[in-house]
Amino acid sequence: MNKANQDLVIAIDGHSSGGKSTYAKAIAKELGITYVDSGAMYRAVTLYAMENNLIRDGHIDEPALVGQLDQIRIKIKFNPEEVRYETWMNGRNIENEIRTVAVSNYVSPVSKIREVREAMVSLQRDMARDRGVVMDGRDIGTVVFPDADIKIYLTAKPEIRAQRRFDELMEKGMEASYDQVHGNIMDRDHQDSTRDISPLKKAEDAIELDNSSMTLEQQMAWFKELLEKKSEEG
Ligand code: C5P
Repeated sequence: MNKANQDLVIAIDGHSSGGKSTYAKAIAKELGITYVDSGAMYRAVTLYAMENNLIRDGHIDEPALVGQLDQIRIKIKFNPEEVRYETWMNGRNIENEIRTVAVSNYVSPVSKIREVREAMVSLQRDMARDRGVVMDGRDIGTVVFPDADIKIYLTAKPEIRAQRRFDELMEKGMEASYDQVHGNIMDRDHQDSTRDISPLKKAEDAIELDNSSMTLEQQMAWFKELLEKKSEEG
């Protein structure tokens, strides 16, 4: 791998709430490159559909949503005051709204729509044009950046993922029960892995890491070793 660290394209895929974004952010900080949360983009489209009455009684009006896709402008911006990346849609900061259980419940069916995926993948590739990036999601190593320099497939036991997500929601003061969160994660795992277009799967050349009993520090030590090995390989 003959590239400077700041030019690297790093893909992190895996099931819901496996700690991908925490890991991706730490890697971005370590290497001084941009972090892009691709799930936030699918969540933004879902929020748009909910707010514009395109989801009624659990049914998504697909033709209407597809017809309005070009009206959804999504940006991911770094907020230095909050020291975090935030998602914006049509000029509005929606970072908190897209994390609600309501959005989580509809995001997987919205993500199955071919035209939604095409629009998001194109946006994701634009975000990495001419610069290094670490992006997390479900199809980053398989579809978005099949030539990524490093591909990590992150896994963790379902109960651990549910507990982490539940703790995160509680910390943010959001309403949810553990059972709701666990149920949503199981449901999204199933929908994301079995959909026709770009299902979640480990890329052949991805390296799997089970972080069930690892701290972030241990995961970073593992990453640095991997990076060194890749550099030595040339
Ligand atoms: O990563 P996060 O859990 O926020 O993603 C929310 C949902 O967006 C996933 O459950 C999946 O349905 C969808 N998604 C996707 N492809 C990606 C990232 C997320 O289909 N690359």
